[in-house]
Amino acid sequence: MSLILKNVILNQKLCDIKIEKCRFAEIAPTIFPNAGDEVVDAGRKAIFPGFYNLHTHAAMSLLKGLGDDKELFSWLSQDIWPREAKFNADIIYIGTKLAMLEMAKSGTVFFSDMYFEQAAIMKAVAEMGLRAAVSIVGFDMFEAQQTAQKIDAIKAFLDLENPNPDLIQKVLAVHSVYTVSARLIEYTAQTAHDNNMMLHIHASETKKEVEDCKKEHGCSPISYLESLGALGPRTVLAHAVWLDDADIDIIVKNKVKLVTNPSSNFKLASGMFQLDKLRKANCVIGLGTDGSASNNSLSMFDEMKLCSLSAKIQASDPTAAKAEDIFAIATLNGAEIMGIDAGIIEVGKLADCMLVNLDNPQMFPDYNPISNLVYAADSSIVDTLICNGKIIMQNHQLPNEAEVWAQAKAALKHIN
Ligand SMILES: [Zn+2]
Repeated sequence: MSLILKNVILNQKLCDIKIEKCRFAEIAPTIFPNAGDEVVDAGRKAIFPGFYNLHTHAAMSLLKGLGDDKELFSWLSQDIWPREAKFNADIIYIGTKLAMLEMAKSGTVFFSDMYFEQAAIMKAVAEMGLRAAVSIVGFDMFEAQQTAQKIDAIKAFLDLENPNPDLIQKVLAVHSVYTVSARLIEYTAQTAHDNNMMLHIHASETKKEVEDCKKEHGCSPISYLESLGALGPRTVLAHAVWLDDADIDIIVKNKVKLVTNPSSNFKLASGMFQLDKLRKANCVIGLGTDGSASNNSLSMFDEMKLCSLSAKIQASDPTAAKAEDIFAIATLNGAEIMGIDAGIIEVGKLADCMLVNLDNPQMFPDYNPISNLVYAADSSIVDTLICNGKIIMQNHQLPNEAEVWAQAKAALKHIN
């Protein structure tokens, strides 16, 4: 059985699109359905790839608005970590679903998560039907007992059943060089390498992190991570704000991928990602929202606009960070970094896409729809979301929305 999308606008032309076995199978002026095919009349909505959010902490959706406007370490230690101590698997399951509700409504088909309780997160992802990279987070605060426990937890994670391998990829993560021992970083990196898994790390987010690392280890976080074997083509570094030329050389040499999170970096006054310089150095870059507690939105629309505008200001060049390039960073680049054969509307590619309502002032006039998406639109334009060929949302509504709301409201009572 196929899914036929009738009356779709693709690249400003009207067409029909057939989706079969999770992939775009045909794009033509008219496609006649076979018996048993599901037909959706898109009513002249425009089709675009969905977004790939390459760095977030989904369950932190339950912490949005807590302890805003503080310095990073005070915010983490006074507001976030004590509250997270009250989180259990059920709370994290619900927080992850709440985040996915927000992400689906803003056109996101994939998120790379860094959090705790992987079984609960994978269950939530499988139920919502989005894609995700679910990681176990190396985090030991340099205490030997915690290092040993985490190593056991990583071993258990490798054996943990993946409820939907088509949608979910298991990855390893290191929280940061300021929270994780060299022993655990090395173990996690080696395990990722041995199992051909991706490695997700917060790195060089703040100036303080870099200064402290130089004092402690005599080198930058990037150089330190390289010395521990943590950098390679399957390593994704989140933030990477404070990079010097030597760091950039190491990143390029090791084919490391970077994820920029502009809203979080701005809100925490961490600094500005050197987008234009890093693109010119041929770094591969994706886009992420970071968690709800430091953004506080999970919308990639906000992130695209800020990513572009901050890069223009930084380069003092309005031709830097063009809308088309930023849209590619949020879609195709993200999919490619995560090894997902998607991110573009093309026959043969996995069918991850959104249908966008053009009868919206944000999308009119349509001189340049990509410009509208990057500079003008918000999540209200997203009508339909399709992930891996399946309809996740129609009319901006998910089928299980009421249930997620009820669960999220109940969960708040347990953490406050
Ligand atoms: Zn983060």
